[in-house]
Amino acid sequence: MVTIVPSFGRIGEENAFAVLARAGQLAAEGRDIVNLGIGQPDMPTPAHIVEAGIKALRDGHHGYTPAVGILPLREAVSRDLHRRHGVEVSPDSVMIVPGGKVTMFMAILMFGEPGAEILYPDPGFPIYRSMIEFTGATPVPVPIREANGFAFSAEETLSLVTERTRLLILNSPANPTGGVTPKAEIDALVAGLAAHPDLAILSDEIYGTMTYDGEAHHSLLRYPEIRERLIYLDGASKTYAMTGWRLGWSVWPKPLYDAARKLAVNAHSCVNAATQWAGVAALDGSQDCVAEMVAEFDRRRALVVEGLNALPNVSCITPKGAFYAFPNVGKTGWKAKKLASALLEEAGVATIGGPDFGVHGEGYIRLSYANSSENILRALDRMGTFLSERAGG
Ligand code: PLP
Repeated sequence: MVTIVPSFGRIGEENAFAVLARAGQLAAEGRDIVNLGIGQPDMPTPAHIVEAGIKALRDGHHGYTPAVGILPLREAVSRDLHRRHGVEVSPDSVMIVPGGKVTMFMAILMFGEPGAEILYPDPGFPIYRSMIEFTGATPVPVPIREANGFAFSAEETLSLVTERTRLLILNSPANPTGGVTPKAEIDALVAGLAAHPDLAILSDEIYGTMTYDGEAHHSLLRYPEIRERLIYLDGASKTYAMTGWRLGWSVWPKPLYDAARKLAVNAHSCVNAATQWAGVAALDGSQDCVAEMVAEFDRRRALVVEGLNALPNVSCITPKGAFYAFPNVGKTGWKAKKLASALLEEAGVATIGGPDFGVHGEGYIRLSYANSSENILRALDRMGTFLSERAGG
């Protein structure tokens, strides 16, 4: 019998994919399922981006590219970061990777080892904790609180730093809460980080283009004082509705860039060439497609928040970013994961239980409103009927 190394006993996964599979199975059995579980835009990739990918294949871009990505795409990322955040980023510090996840995979591998502590948001994207545990490092959750509008707190984050903390993971706009951390809080965090000069920072800004109500997304890239220890994570999955293309990018401090390049050479060699050319079209083309998508999410956000607050014993603060609502279901009498499971099996509505995003997610469920208004209304209607009939679990 073969045995794999024990660290694989510690690796986790994303329950959203299990819910997606179960929802698909129920649908295949003839059930009518509304899927508000998975976090991906329901729109197709904009046509000009698809065309650029097809053209690249027709033009013969079939081979390996440099492991760090083609220069035109790294230059396009630099221009995009300058346009959106007003910062100078050399294409030589930009790395093209197969999706946003790969940057966190690399960063956590670089800093995680037994004895090290890594701070990560809870509730937060489940892969942070999974990867931290895989490396043998100690995961230290930073609670993300509804009372704080689901922004992270600089004070609480800094209070958790010890001499063993090697990496701090930040995420704004955030999954699963839709929270956006205001500039003043980020200023305070960065000021406090001056006392911890050996602490690296991974800023996951994959939802950076998706904010509402005039709430500006404030990138960690804007702070020159932490640039030599900041890893910036971004990508095309959410902004350009390209989850299946597998295209992400990151900005690395000089001393880490070569380590990231070597990981790429060892793992995936490069992102497929046609996808990279599609990425150039995405970043250099008109950004109207992004504005239209965000405006559509904004309309659905209003529907979902209003509908959730009308449900018995449910309350939902208005998310300021991404495309998730994270309603408080603590007063329904249901444990969050049981509720999510019952909603899927009995009411035909797929959501994700808050505890799938960490212990501080108990009492909440996540709904992705990257679905049609019609489906959102159907889901809310079914949830209303279910909760009135099945109050208290
Ligand atoms: N970071 C966060 C916070 C996410 O929610 C996701 C996807 O859901 C990712 C990263 C990963 O994105 P990708 O699909 O590009 O790997």
